[in-house]
Amino acid sequence: MKIATNIHVIPGVAAHPYLLVDPDGLTLIDTGIPGSANKILRYIKRMGYSHKDLNRILLTHADYDHAGSLAALKKATGARVHASVYEARAVANGQFPRSLKTENIFLKPIFALAERLGRISPAHVDEHICDGQVLPVLNGLHVVDTKGHTPGHLSFFAPSVGILFSGDSILSMKDRLVGSHGSVTWDQDQADASVLRQWALKARIICSGHGAVVMDGLARLMNLAEVLRLAPAYQRL
Ligand SMILES: [Zn+2]
Repeated sequence: MKIATNIHVIPGVAAHPYLLVDPDGLTLIDTGIPGSANKILRYIKRMGYSHKDLNRILLTHADYDHAGSLAALKKATGARVHASVYEARAVANGQFPRSLKTENIFLKPIFALAERLGRISPAHVDEHICDGQVLPVLNGLHVVDTKGHTPGHLSFFAPSVGILFSGDSILSMKDRLVGSHGSVTWDQDQADASVLRQWALKARIICSGHGAVVMDGLARLMNLAEVLRLAPAYQRL
């Protein structure tokens, strides 16, 4: 499904994989849960491309629903995989990038089980990327450190389009945006700071790992920043 020129979200896969089209080939952001590879490859074929045209896979983070089909897609396409050092380590081990947190003694064993069941096929990350790098995608795709949801979470921002791929650092829920929170959040303060950092980018379109694409992202991020009481901090930047 087309979001903007050369930018697609692949329907029917959780979490959302985004496909970016450049003259020299295709880039995929995130890969969905295990078993999503064929859906993604079918979408690429329907667009008139071969699976070999997928040059690059970027990972926001190593959770099950984002890196679950990475190994299968890498094998099928030969694409080079890019992720932060921390998430690359988790993917290499097929592990959750952080423990799920709870003080509830009844939930502890359930979360431990979820971490075991949530293991993914290990995959090798070819290139470690970090904050401030600009990738040759969509006329310059900026890598943004958005740790908090996980220790090495990254977002990707294309100023030429005003579009932000926020992974799970900012989520689209019903008609609003929310920051990462609750048991899946590695560090809440860092997660809130990552919302602030992304607000400062002034993206128009927000493509989150979950929920609808938000076309009036700037106004909604403003609301989110106010909810987090980040507005005064933003004034001091
Ligand atoms: Zn997710």
